[in-house]
Amino acid sequence: MESKIKEFMKLVKVRNQHEPEFLQAVQEVAETVIPYIASQEIYNGKNILLRMVEPERVLMFRVPWIDDSGEIIVNRGYRIQMNSAIGPYKGGLRFHPTVNLSILKFLAFEQVFKNALTTLPMGGGKGGSDFDPKGKSDGEIMRFCHSFMAELCRHIGANTDVPAGDIGVGAREIGFLFGMYKKMRNEFTGVLTGKGMSWGGSLIRPEATGYGTVYFAQSMLETRGDTLKGKTVTVSGSGNVAQYACEKATQLGAKVVTLSDSSGFIYDEDGIDEQKLAFVMELKNVKRGRINEYVEKYPKAKFFKGKTPWGIKCEVAMPCATQNEVNGEDAKTLLNNGCYVVSEGANMPSRPEAIEAFQGAKILYAPGKASNAGGVATSGLEMSQNSLRINWTRDEVDERLKKIMKDIHDSCIKFGKKDDGYIDYVTGANIAGFVKVADAMLAQGVV
Ligand code: GLU
Repeated sequence: MESKIKEFMKLVKVRNQHEPEFLQAVQEVAETVIPYIASQEIYNGKNILLRMVEPERVLMFRVPWIDDSGEIIVNRGYRIQMNSAIGPYKGGLRFHPTVNLSILKFLAFEQVFKNALTTLPMGGGKGGSDFDPKGKSDGEIMRFCHSFMAELCRHIGANTDVPAGDIGVGAREIGFLFGMYKKMRNEFTGVLTGKGMSWGGSLIRPEATGYGTVYFAQSMLETRGDTLKGKTVTVSGSGNVAQYACEKATQLGAKVVTLSDSSGFIYDEDGIDEQKLAFVMELKNVKRGRINEYVEKYPKAKFFKGKTPWGIKCEVAMPCATQNEVNGEDAKTLLNNGCYVVSEGANMPSRPEAIEAFQGAKILYAPGKASNAGGVATSGLEMSQNSLRINWTRDEVDERLKKIMKDIHDSCIKFGKKDDGYIDYVTGANIAGFVKVADAMLAQGVV
């Protein structure tokens, strides 16, 4: 089996030599899925995984825009249309200076499996730009978004490809993007998700990724007759995912003690309660400030400059910042401090050595493609509501989200439960996602 995996990765490496994040994501899937393929007659000799690692289409385009001083700036725009076997391409847009082909391809690849897990009919895609929204004025953000969409609009559509937000793309950016799409195409459709409530958005969509990550942690704890109540939780990040993970964990009786951004993390021993979280939301979403300002408002809390929160004692860790934010050493520290639940809100936040350490210690570890799927699942629910031209209530959407997270958890058990009872959520999520997409690809022939 080892040699089969090696042989496969050799082929993938030749074509994607300078794409470390993409290769990392593919390696993890190959290790878990290739042994399964070998055991299933129907997938033999069909090269399905080899087809899945090749994007159906990659778009790269110039995004010129004019900054407030009148200078013309050029950024690069991307959209990876990875796989449309089970539905239109679906996945977020990331605006961040580190964005490159490797990062977007890893995200698009993960998205294919994640979207399949949601049980909804969505293919996988991802896009974005190396544009840095930090410190930009609203006018600059608007001009950038308009230029980006002026090109992207000809490649997407409600039945073709439905982008949404990701790092650096929130409600404000989705609004500007939607405005330009409508102007260029002269149609009002559900071409983007994460829209505002008065123009086709869904209740619970902003909360969904963070809430889903917490619901998944609850399901994992239930397998051991345990709950989140009374647990100490460390959360990284302070954007949309982290904020709502913090809110839901607190509502369920846990104490969240950390939040972070690229400047460092804050540690509040007393817990970040509803009122403190409201301050963070205002600070981050409206004032677009830095997390260290938390300690000016709440002086009992401490700020650790340039550090991640994984040295803080906790039972539950929720990495909600970005890829590869938890390394092998961090994982060991978490385990030594008694952490036994890791539910990822970000995409691929744990490095391979960290995953190995978590699984070696047999703790409850959920990869992002399972535990953070609530965001895109609720995007799927937004698409359903747009098609039906109705709006579900908050409770209706939340109930559906809970059911989807539970179903994802069940799928992970179905394909990931080992003989000794340990649930390998990585294997479970990868195989369950693979089976759904692979069966559709088989049915559709060599396309
Ligand atoms: N960016 C989110 C993710 O990583 C959401 C994508 C979407 O809603 O389409 O899944």
